[in-house]
Amino acid sequence: MLTITGASHILIDQSTERRGDIAMADGKVVSSGAKVDVAGEVLDASGCVVTPGLINAHHHLMQTAFRTLPGTRGVPMARWLPTMAAAYAEAGFDGELAALAASAGVAEGLLSGVTTVADHHLAWPAGSDGVAIARGTADAVRALGGRLAFVRGAARDEPQEAAASAEAIVQALLPGIIGGVSDDGMLQLAVGPAGVHSDPKETFELLAEVATRYGLRRRTQANEQVDVVIALEKYGKRPIDLLEEWGWLANDVTLAHLCAVTPDEIARLSAAGVTATHAPGCDLPMGWGIAPVVALRTAGIAVGLGTSGGGSNDAGHLLADARLAMQVAPMVGAPLSARQAIAMATAGSAAGLGRTELGHLRVGAAGDACVWDVSGVADAGVADPVAGLLWASPGRRPKHVVVAGQVVVRDYKLVNADESDITARLRERVGR
Ligand SMILES: [Zn+2]
Repeated sequence: MLTITGASHILIDQSTERRGDIAMADGKVVSSGAKVDVAGEVLDASGCVVTPGLINAHHHLMQTAFRTLPGTRGVPMARWLPTMAAAYAEAGFDGELAALAASAGVAEGLLSGVTTVADHHLAWPAGSDGVAIARGTADAVRALGGRLAFVRGAARDEPQEAAASAEAIVQALLPGIIGGVSDDGMLQLAVGPAGVHSDPKETFELLAEVATRYGLRRRTQANEQVDVVIALEKYGKRPIDLLEEWGWLANDVTLAHLCAVTPDEIARLSAAGVTATHAPGCDLPMGWGIAPVVALRTAGIAVGLGTSGGGSNDAGHLLADARLAMQVAPMVGAPLSARQAIAMATAGSAAGLGRTELGHLRVGAAGDACVWDVSGVADAGVADPVAGLLWASPGRRPKHVVVAGQVVVRDYKLVNADESDITARLRERVGR
């Protein structure tokens, strides 16, 4: 039993806010907003806002080991890709490095309120042990107490090999499970080619077969400007047309980025039940533009939020990117409110993962919550502390973070690991 007491605001879901307490037992929310008799472990939330745990719907955790690399900023994708690939090759990317990078990326995420991360893993060097990469990542995340959705991606992989590897990962990490989520909800598996710009129809079809066999969600990236340009060059068609032809416009599919998307395409995505992930912290510096998230939401598309990886967005701080999403929205349409941006980073991301128990704090929800102290000078004068989570204090971190009813960050520190140790181990391996 865990009780979070005395919060000045609890953001239970998009339309419900209360003051008071939250109680969790057996990893789930058992009381939400009412005053409860305190039992078991107590987290004092006086002067604090409590939100659901944030869900980073699009990350490339391994890029955490390759941040701010010379030659990867302010360059076109055609130069970015080989520069990153050369760095992976030089570091000898394997299961051990996957684990070290995931530790750092997920620790950073937990310390900034991210309780679930979707890791779209795209680097599978020839001859590498795919199961070891997936297992290294999953074990590292579990040790820190976070939730992981590991996406067996592909980027110019041989299609049959990618599908065989995806299947081997499911059999090794979720043996006997159909539906793609472990019984304790801490690990989810999904599949996802990098996009039509990099992978052929066969990869999309074969990974979809694995998804059907094991009940996995499908995720890919679409309509970064470069994706549209390459699709037109290669196929004479736009990415959404290709995805439709290849059977990837469906309600189990989540598309990240969606910058250069037309009103007609938005209507088709909505009709197909596709969900989306906005990643402005990557799209803006890469020069891909700003996804029209308000138009997507207005069309009835569930939109989540992701940071993308350290190769383009060097921080895995999802709340900072929720702030960015809110700030840039008026450049491409109607404004996005702070509450809408937070809803994207919680319920919107959960929808894309097909996880109805995540992203809110109603009774029965997974016990994932962040306690944000808003009593300091950075929040002085703030009239609306929920809006202030984004408008005030950029880069804020939660005081406490709870995942599945377990405290994983207490008083701004990791509970299950030593931060400097994680940093030192990664530095030792990559020499930075
Ligand atoms: Zn990405």
